[in-house]
Amino acid sequence: MSPATDAPQSQSPLSYRIFDAMVLGFGLLILASDATNLLRDGWSVPWLHLLTIPLIVLIARFPLVLDVAGGGIEIGFDSCVLMFLICTLPPHEAMMLWSLGVVASQLTNDKRADSKRFNIGVGIIGGAVATMVITGLRGDTLSTPRELFAVAVGAACYFATDFLVTAVSIVLEEKSSLRKQVQQPGTALAVACFVPFDSLGYLGAVVLRFGAWWMIVLLAVPLVTMLIATRAVTRGREHARRLSVLFDAAVRTQTLTETRQVAEALLEDARRLLQLSRVEIRPFAPESNEIGVELSDGQREQWIVAPLHHRARSTGAADQQALEALGAVASDAFARLRLTDEMTHLARHDVLTNLPNRALLLDRVEHALRNSRRHGRRIALLFCDLDGFKQVNDRFGHAAGDAVLVEVAQRLTSCVRDTDTVARLGGDEFAILLEDVQPDQVDAACERILAALRPSANVAGRQLPLSTSIGVALGDTGRSAEHLLRNADMAMYEAKSLGKDRWVKYQPSLGRSRVRHLELVEALRAAVDAGELRLAYQPVVQLQTGRIVGVEALARWTSGGVPVPPDVFIGAAEESGLVVALGDLVFDLVAADASMLREAAGGALTVGVNISAQQLREPTFVSKVEETMAQMPGVDLILEITERDFVDNDSMALEAMARLSDEGVPFAIDDFGVGFSSIGYLQHMPVKILKIDRSFLVDIDSDERSCGLLRSIMMMGQALGLDVVVEGVERATQVEHLRDHVVETGATTFAQGYLLHRPMPLGEVVEVIRSNSDLRELVLPAPERTSA
Ligand code: C2E
Ligand code: CA
Ligand code: CA
Repeated sequence: MSPATDAPQSQSPLSYRIFDAMVLGFGLLILASDATNLLRDGWSVPWLHLLTIPLIVLIARFPLVLDVAGGGIEIGFDSCVLMFLICTLPPHEAMMLWSLGVVASQLTNDKRADSKRFNIGVGIIGGAVATMVITGLRGDTLSTPRELFAVAVGAACYFATDFLVTAVSIVLEEKSSLRKQVQQPGTALAVACFVPFDSLGYLGAVVLRFGAWWMIVLLAVPLVTMLIATRAVTRGREHARRLSVLFDAAVRTQTLTETRQVAEALLEDARRLLQLSRVEIRPFAPESNEIGVELSDGQREQWIVAPLHHRARSTGAADQQALEALGAVASDAFARLRLTDEMTHLARHDVLTNLPNRALLLDRVEHALRNSRRHGRRIALLFCDLDGFKQVNDRFGHAAGDAVLVEVAQRLTSCVRDTDTVARLGGDEFAILLEDVQPDQVDAACERILAALRPSANVAGRQLPLSTSIGVALGDTGRSAEHLLRNADMAMYEAKSLGKDRWVKYQPSLGRSRVRHLELVEALRAAVDAGELRLAYQPVVQLQTGRIVGVEALARWTSGGVPVPPDVFIGAAEESGLVVALGDLVFDLVAADASMLREAAGGALTVGVNISAQQLREPTFVSKVEETMAQMPGVDLILEITERDFVDNDSMALEAMARLSDEGVPFAIDDFGVGFSSIGYLQHMPVKILKIDRSFLVDIDSDERSCGLLRSIMMMGQALGLDVVVEGVERATQVEHLRDHVVETGATTFAQGYLLHRPMPLGEVVEVIRSNSDLRELVLPAPERTSA
């Protein structure tokens, strides 16, 4: 009998080792005394009995294995041979053959060395006990019921000795309770099998006494049957045990949350499953004397490997199968963990750029803030917002917008150290957390980022212009991550309003200006909703005659009694998307004023309305214009769009322009000459009028080259068949220069400017139109008059 597990024994307690040594020592003592007796009395063992040694080895291979949680024992039925020997040989000879058999079977099994030693000791001691009990009980009465009784008691004593000594050893080794060991389930079964089995040995002795020696061979039939039955029982129990271990493992792995934990549990379960301590997880496949399965944890190649053993309880094939089942359980758990990992990653990262998202950034900032307070390290949070990204999206579509964002993410990441965090907050907003930085390093990082984002992005063969505005909040300006981010955001807005493509550091005063900005937007929204905007009209005159040919409608807004400059509120409206509603209101106001304007003009009159590109992209824009035109018969609408806004790639806007142009609505390019578009687009755009930006007029009366430049722009416009309007005529000397050096004789040119007419309310402008006052002394002599 022996412990059934191959448990690790590196730190076996001293008491256990002493006990085991005593068991072996005692056994060897018995063996030595038998040997001396034999040397003295002589050795007369018949040859047939020598076969009992291999028989012992053979039968020991078929033990009954009793398992309980945490350990178990094996019971060999080889003691039936002991009974045969005791009943057919003198005690010393019987003991000698038995002891040799025990030694042989232990030397040929693959148990641990200390188990072998212990089993040799126990086997010999048990043999001696059985020999004494049987010879004592039967006396001289051979082949009587008394002898049978003696054998039964001897067998029971052998079992008890073996069982108890083994139990004590296990108790000492595992420091468990003896009661638990003795009351193992299956002990009764073992006793019930053991005594009849050992009686088989006695049967052999009786056959030898009364029959011919060869009749013993007949005993092979019950012997083999019983051994097969034992093995079936052992394997059946083992099978059930393995199923329960696998079930436990499957349930347990479901609760684990880390790959490492799963691997550890797996290893432990595999050891329990196979009851082998030499199971390992390693990066290479099993070798020839090993079994194993590959585990896929999704990261690296891993194998769980155990030594190949053929044991009473199982075979290598069964062990392999068990490992495979366990491997499947583990793969499942790994897959579940991977999925959870992916989900947590998704929850904390931006799908498009794979950068950390707002939540993860805030976590890191919070953490960095705590660290910086503890260790006095400075941090900085940068809020980056791309300039004009909305246009990229609107003009080139979302796929192009996405490509730009991915490119921006890469450029930003390349600007900072690995320890810094680049996050995407959403849309075209990014944030960068710089940890452990000096103020001058922050400045340098901002410059680096601006420079890195300035080159245009190449998306599907097109160069898309890029730039960014950055707001910086240093760690000591915010109490919490949210607070710091808000401050950086505010500084970014300041950078935008200072003209974009720059960085601004947060200061408390920014907060106030940002609040004012937000208040402005809210007030504007309310004013637009309530229709509280007014229009001013600035006449457009024909330069040669000075006659008013049209007016330009300009939005005016008075907030709390104070007029707000159009550049300010139009800018705020564009930024907040309010410009669409504002534009609709302007159309309504123009439509309402149209009849008075027409009446005053008494003939043809154009009304220019400024629109922004955002309006052109509204699906309802075309119908809004049609509706407005229907309400103003006799007045010709002109739509002015600034060159900066100009949409040479925006299919939605182009379509709207083409439709309206087909319906006879002329488009004017406003502020021509200062935008970034190339002039090539003029050829195939539905444009009728060019309004040359006033910056081209500023110096014409003092600088010859400006004169030349303006002249060539005008000639180009006229060559393309466009009407040309010069804006910002403020001084009479500008008119002189226009007349003498710029305007080609005979080319009709229009002008707008404070010198001619200021923008004015409807009531005034109708008067001006009605009188159509004579500006002749200011304007060019009419061509007819020059030639006359
Ligand atoms: P804009 O379309 O170029 O309008 C002409 C601007 O030049 C007007 O400024 C006008 O008052 C000013 N101006 C006219 N003559 C002179 C001059 O001789 N010297 C100088 N220095 N300025 C002159 P305003 O009214 O301040 O409008 C500014 C801009 O706001 C406009 O520029 C236009 O782009 C925008 N805007 C005005 N009303 C609307 C509107 O209803 N919708 C949209 N989308 N934009 C508008
Ligand atoms: Ca205009
Ligand atoms: Ca203009």
